[in-house]
Amino acid sequence: MTYQNFSLAQLQAMDAAHHLHPFTDHKDLRAAGSRIITRASGPYVYDTEGREILDGMAGLWCVNVGYGRDELAEVAYEQMKELPYYNSFFRCSTPTPVLLSQKLAERAPKNVNQVFYGSSGSEANDTALRLVRHYWALEGRPQKNRIISRHWAYHGSTVAGTSLGGMGGMHDQLYGAVPNIAHVMPPYAFELRRPGESDHDFGLRAAQAVEDAILEAGADNVAAFIGEPVMGAGGVKIPPESYWPEIDRICKKHDVLLMLDEVITGYGRTGAWFAAERLGLEPDTITTAKALTSGYQPLSALLVGDRIAKTLVEKGGEFYHGYTYSGHPVACAVALRNIEIIEREGLVERVRDDTGPYFANALNERIAGHGIVGEVRAFGLMGAIEIVADKETRERFPGQGTAAVTLRDHAIEGGLMMRAVGDTMILSPPLIWTRDTIDMACDRIVTALDRAE
Ligand code: PLP
Repeated sequence: MTYQNFSLAQLQAMDAAHHLHPFTDHKDLRAAGSRIITRASGPYVYDTEGREILDGMAGLWCVNVGYGRDELAEVAYEQMKELPYYNSFFRCSTPTPVLLSQKLAERAPKNVNQVFYGSSGSEANDTALRLVRHYWALEGRPQKNRIISRHWAYHGSTVAGTSLGGMGGMHDQLYGAVPNIAHVMPPYAFELRRPGESDHDFGLRAAQAVEDAILEAGADNVAAFIGEPVMGAGGVKIPPESYWPEIDRICKKHDVLLMLDEVITGYGRTGAWFAAERLGLEPDTITTAKALTSGYQPLSALLVGDRIAKTLVEKGGEFYHGYTYSGHPVACAVALRNIEIIEREGLVERVRDDTGPYFANALNERIAGHGIVGEVRAFGLMGAIEIVADKETRERFPGQGTAAVTLRDHAIEGGLMMRAVGDTMILSPPLIWTRDTIDMACDRIVTALDRAE
């Protein structure tokens, strides 16, 4: 059965009849019908009508090496023929997760040398949550089990992921939550900085909120702080430079573990292999997924620091945790080749030295001055555009995010895939974008902004 035998209307009807989509209002979807993407190449995706759309989101922040990489398909094919599956439970292993772990240990911060695999970022965060609690129990301090996170954080959509995350609707009591997780203010200067407050002071105040939460719970009861280096799904909220060093200092002072969620920021997006490196941090856990395989296979890797690993090994006792697909041979083979491509093509350095600065400059020069833009932000190849009705007062458009959704639709019609989060437009393109691609994207953003004004 191939999709070419069906019309768009037929595909949409089948989709509506049988397919429940993630993060979707299904009543709304039925009325509008879904856009069906059928193929992709380089930086573009194509829909059923053959329309070419520049993918400003790298799928969902993941296709860092771009689409149509034959060698990733070939390596998956070869691995499937040789060994499609075997587990790494019960004292077994297979070669590709072994090689990948070695590679990730080389690329991670120097204190991070162990890897635990899953299939998604959410699973990796479930692992991280259980692992840090397991660690403190092994250390004889099981009561040190609280986690501090932030409002607007996104850490996945399993029960642990949503409990760690700080997104409004996902915390509805209806769903239940993992206990002992607190949320503090995010370092979101655009909305939370006080009049007259400097960026530096705002960063310190946002970090102080973490220390206040630790003191309130009692440091003896707090296991870890978890944060995305740059909040992604919450709207590319980039903390002031003062924030992370202060968080690091606070965590060390109170003997609280530092958990970084680099599901978006890992594998080159910020112009470093991991944002931890760019920020000078040595976290106890780093959650990664997405660009680990550039989205060609579902795979996540929780990178585990020496402090936790040492205790696991020295104290022993089983960590009752794992997934059938932990260390999946095919996914790990694809990840290895994906990392090889990133290395061979110097994509991390390109973002750091060329396209990252160019992207930031282009947003500032070409987008920031537009009449309905309140602020632009960029960090590596992550970007945000705050949409406002009034540039001076920063008053938002009425309808809580509907203006941004309209803008997103205009952008797609004009050939650029962007995402709307509340009143913020976000971009996270493949790392293969060049200066020309960035210029093309900016042309399309300006056209969409003009239409929405
Ligand atoms: N953590 C962060 C920072 C993410 O952005 C995401 C997904 O966007 C996740 C975790 C969850 O990853 P997944 O959707 O693969 O479960």
